[in-house]
Amino acid sequence: MDEFIKSLNQDYELVQYHIKNKEVVFHIRSSKKELVCPFCGSKSIYVHSAYQREIQDLPIQDKQVILLVDARKLFCYYPDCPHKTFAEKHPFAAPKAKKTDRLVKNIIHTSTQLSSLNASKLLKSENIIVCKSSICSLLKKMPSIVDKASVKKNCVDDFALRKRFSYGTVMIDLESHRIIDMIPSRETADVSSWLATFPNIQVVSRDGASTYSSAAVDSHPEAVRVSDRFHLNKRAFGSHKQIYHQGISRQGRDSVG
Ligand SMILES: [Zn+2]
Repeated sequence: MDEFIKSLNQDYELVQYHIKNKEVVFHIRSSKKELVCPFCGSKSIYVHSAYQREIQDLPIQDKQVILLVDARKLFCYYPDCPHKTFAEKHPFAAPKAKKTDRLVKNIIHTSTQLSSLNASKLLKSENIIVCKSSICSLLKKMPSIVDKASVKKNCVDDFALRKRFSYGTVMIDLESHRIIDMIPSRETADVSSWLATFPNIQVVSRDGASTYSSAAVDSHPEAVRVSDRFHLNKRAFGSHKQIYHQGISRQGRDSVG
């Protein structure tokens, strides 16, 4: 068990652990007595208060792993420091995060290859509990790891950050079929400057709205602009429906006349 804790960080030690059904709970703490204030860089050993954080980690065999991490708030007595206290940071998880960095990495790796719903189901079968909306939040925070110069054929589409109130734009690489970037806007100017950061785009697939079409023209005037299949089918179906109804009403008029 110690080896597992040390794999998180060498400065952490196991206080105790227990196994309950499909869950293993490790109570751990840092062995460091002295911590560095992040605001001024001075060291402190003066504990203001203590609490526990519950953080999910990578599963072990068929068990979900929960870390109960002792966390401290310390006084900073350096006279020029702008803060009187500071919270202990844990090197394996972001502040206030409910999952370790290595678990987040695992979730993102799985989720970029599947829909959020299917990723959630697959991860659950591996004893990683994460809901669809948490996966979406993690993907939105994910920094772009794509070589922007390598993107040549892409699709842009909108998605709801808050339905009916706020929308963003997602970019999908049409060659790898993977999400490669997102921005919290669908305004032409924002989308245009964002597309311009991908220098070698040759094809832009988008919906029928003028916003994305204008953004593509502004940023990559030489690129081929195509309608995506969903919106093309939707428009074709709408046109057929209109022709059908026009035909029916003409037949009605002819029979009356
Ligand atoms: Zn300080």
